[in-house]
Amino acid sequence: MLDVAGLSVLYGKHRALDQAALTVGAGEIVVILGANGAGKSSLLRAVAGLLPASPGAQVTLSGRELMGLSAHAIVEAGLALVPEGRAIFGDLTVRENLLLGAFARRARTDEARNRARVLALFPRLAERLGQTARTMSGGEQQMVAIGRALMSAPELLLLDEPSLGLSPLLCTELFRALERIRGDGISVLLVEQNARKSLAVADRGYLIENGRIVGSGRAADLSGDPAVQRAYLGGR
Ligand code: ATP
Repeated sequence: MLDVAGLSVLYGKHRALDQAALTVGAGEIVVILGANGAGKSSLLRAVAGLLPASPGAQVTLSGRELMGLSAHAIVEAGLALVPEGRAIFGDLTVRENLLLGAFARRARTDEARNRARVLALFPRLAERLGQTARTMSGGEQQMVAIGRALMSAPELLLLDEPSLGLSPLLCTELFRALERIRGDGISVLLVEQNARKSLAVADRGYLIENGRIVGSGRAADLSGDPAVQRAYLGGR
């Protein structure tokens, strides 16, 4: 479904991402693990069309080339990004935030059905449809951000550090929600610093260091790998 090859991102002379290659299969949760500044956000933002990639990158979604498309066209192609820091519209209500997510042409006809799915996934949002998004807790705002992305009826959901700043309980809820999203047939690619919880729900993972993908494997194998445990799981 998602195939990435030769993806590099430069900020001036600084190479934040160097020839990254990865795949996400249909119905998979794939996690990218890496330390601060490793290039995780740059990777997601380049795939979503929010940052220019260096020439030669190939990024296809279900066979369709995404490089060169606008961010909006990439949403229409079936890819939705939940950026780091959520980027919800704080002055708008939950209902209005969700409605904005349904702006994509691909989502307009099924708006009611998609909204019902989002509210079934996050019942808390159903109780708070009229609440101003800014006044919600961090975890609730993350639900709004994910809900808004799901309203565009994506084939693939990209999430940039969704667990950041959430309590352990909300974190657990969030990762359960990702499993349910996968159960609905939507693939998930997330970047995370919470290696333990993300590897527990992911099917596969990639390790990124200094802009390079330095390892990959099945999530269960990565969790059991002593080097991964030392670097990302605080040793054992
Ligand atoms: P974090 O987990 O801290 O968000 P990350 O793995 O997502 O980190 P990126 O945000 O992709 O990392 O950044 C990768 C590198 O590129 C870092 O060294 C960062 O300082 C640099 N960088 C990111 N954005 C810019 C920018 N707009 N201009 C210059 N350098 C940047």
